[in-house]
Amino acid sequence: MNKNIGVYVHIPYCNSKCPYCDFYSLADKSRAREYVEAVNVKLKNFTKDNFCKADTLYIGGGTPSSLPAEMLCSIVENVKKSFRCVPEEITAEFNPSDADEDYFKKIFASGVNRLSFGMQSAVDSERRSLGRRADKNQVEKAVLLAKKAGFNNISLDLMLGIPKQTGASLSESIAFCAELGVRHISAYILKLEEGTFFYKNSSKLNLPDEDETADLYLQAVSELEKAGFLQYEISNFAKAGAESKHNLKYWRLEDYLGIGAAAHSCINGKRFYYPRDIDYFINGGEPIADGESGSCEEKIMLGLRLKEGIKKELLSEKSLNEIPDLEQNGYIKTTPENISLTPQGFLISNTIINMLTE
Ligand code: SF4
Repeated sequence: MNKNIGVYVHIPYCNSKCPYCDFYSLADKSRAREYVEAVNVKLKNFTKDNFCKADTLYIGGGTPSSLPAEMLCSIVENVKKSFRCVPEEITAEFNPSDADEDYFKKIFASGVNRLSFGMQSAVDSERRSLGRRADKNQVEKAVLLAKKAGFNNISLDLMLGIPKQTGASLSESIAFCAELGVRHISAYILKLEEGTFFYKNSSKLNLPDEDETADLYLQAVSELEKAGFLQYEISNFAKAGAESKHNLKYWRLEDYLGIGAAAHSCINGKRFYYPRDIDYFINGGEPIADGESGSCEEKIMLGLRLKEGIKKELLSEKSLNEIPDLEQNGYIKTTPENISLTPQGFLISNTIINMLTE
């Protein structure tokens, strides 16, 4: 294999568990050093048999910044050494409450050139309801310190449909992001994941209902675009040229290697993953096969997440017959070769994908 791949490294540690989150993460970091060593061994082993270049690296989690900077730097160094190249885009997810000038300087010097901060909201009461420790001033300080250390490619996460959120409070969060001069925003609608505190207590949370959440989403698309953040994916918005190169690989079905507990890979048409179990990973457990990738259905499903949409040639005759109605109702846009979803279409994307893949 001689091509470019994206590398994802999962850091399964967080200082505390947010009440809505079902990502694989642990508070006990006693095996963190062994875990990072196991990541570096897997990187080396993969590149022994596969001649490819890593053009993107994404260190996600969990909370990568809950580990010492040296551990993150060691992962970056090992990716460079194992793949014999410097990835063009190297992202680390960062909790604003971990912000520290020295930490930023160290990871920037190692090659990390993009940061993704878990902000969720610029309104302190909303952040608190999500279990977030940093207040708005700390988020601002984190972004300014990161910029001072050299980072100019910064993303902030925004959450939509959170307890007590209103149109006015969302506008406040978006204005805050725009004023901070970041180049990328991920705006996710809160999903109640089974097993989480939010799932079990949803009736007591004062959550916006489905229609209110849909309005918040449409408001976010419109206000972000006015602030120069162009939508390129159902939940992602960027200033020109600041789209996440790594995440685009997932939606475009390009190859990526996932290393770490709960990390998923897709390489040469095969999917595989590591279980949600750090002991399995540290003990050298192999990834588990998860079927083939690249079916027409999958291309439609992932491609319609993107603003660029999909080629009409992927659709069956029956699905093509659905297009005029969907277009008339404002859910899709078409060109002679392509179809793509509008913001209204993104809101009902599952229904549309089901219609087009039946
Ligand atoms: S910091 Fe992120 S990964 Fe960790 S518990 Fe909170 S939402 Fe989940």
